[in-house]
Amino acid sequence: MTQTIPPQPGIMEIALYEAGSSHVAGRSDALKLSSNENPFGPSPKAKEAVTRAIHSMHRYPPTDHAALREAIGEVHGLDPDRIICGVGSDEIIHFLCQAYAGPGTEVLFTEHGFLMYAISARAAGARPVQAPERDRTTDVDRLIAAATPATRLIFVANPNNPTGTMVGLAELDRLARAVPQAILVIDAAYAEYVGGGDQGGPGAHPDAAGEAPYDGGAALATDRPNVFMTRTFSKIYGLGGLRVGWGYGPREIIDVLNRIRGPFNLSGPALDGAVAAVRDRAHVDRSRSENARLRAWLAEALAAHGVPSDTSCANFVLARFAGPEIAEACDAALKDEGIIVRRVVAYGLPHCLRITIGDEASCRRVAHVIGRFMAGRSGQGA
Ligand SMILES: *Cc1c(COP(=O)(O)O)cnc(C)c1O
Repeated sequence: MTQTIPPQPGIMEIALYEAGSSHVAGRSDALKLSSNENPFGPSPKAKEAVTRAIHSMHRYPPTDHAALREAIGEVHGLDPDRIICGVGSDEIIHFLCQAYAGPGTEVLFTEHGFLMYAISARAAGARPVQAPERDRTTDVDRLIAAATPATRLIFVANPNNPTGTMVGLAELDRLARAVPQAILVIDAAYAEYVGGGDQGGPGAHPDAAGEAPYDGGAALATDRPNVFMTRTFSKIYGLGGLRVGWGYGPREIIDVLNRIRGPFNLSGPALDGAVAAVRDRAHVDRSRSENARLRAWLAEALAAHGVPSDTSCANFVLARFAGPEIAEACDAALKDEGIIVRRVVAYGLPHCLRITIGDEASCRRVAHVIGRFMAGRSGQGA
């Protein structure tokens, strides 16, 4: 006989996170374009480092992540003392909510923002609050309007998932200044994918007129007391399965987060793999430029089939259909061909499908199937 012991308020309101699916029944050759993974996989140097680290698995890993923080600091020109590493950036998001939000406080994010923000906010007992976007793009004025004295955290993914759109850093600076009672967290999981093509071309970010590549908000997090940046090894580094992310910001915030971080949160192989990955800039550059080229190609191919998308700054496009039934039917048509994309109903975009930019053959395959699907529909006079 078991007695039900109720969990803390908010926990049962959390909808279970549904990951992008990875299987199609009856097919072993499914093409997975549902989780924004790098089609080129990780750097060979990262694989070697992880393989080497396997031999020391009986040892506890370092607790201070010094080697990884140093490598990140060197590559990005940041002070390693202002960096914290986590089990994916998801864990950093969790730390932020646990440390700064709680009952009676609000956590603010955008209408089509990443699902983890609401999950972590509720887990901390805080109230998740959504601000409307404008044309599937972060709207700083609406975020400012939605902020209250109870707002403790504002999460803005820039570029955002699943929309692929982003705003300029001047806008984020304006947001941070307008809401000094809250920490603005710039989730820059896709920062490395910004630009990458011709300057000013598709995927260029709003600040692309200058020479400087997008820094994910690092300079703002250096200068402002209430700006924090999160990054990940799961996307361009191709290490989603290893679970490594990091955050950067004011020393005071890093000190707070380190108090709730488990001392051994990152495994030895994960730490060594991430160090090798961040130092392999050639792998990052190649992944970025291939993604930019194929992103532009796929967006154009889909548009030619009557499927528009917003200019994406990330490694996916959000394909837009005339209605939810059409998006669902197209998803089914893709599945029939063994192609898995991401439905984004939970993100308030039931008429859209998020498609990860794969390698060239994958992009051609997905465009071909969607083209045939759309042609079939117009053939029916639909
Ligand atoms: C994929 C993604 C992350 C990264 O999550 P990890 O926990 O680092 O794997 C963070 N934010 C957004 C918006 C993402 O899409």
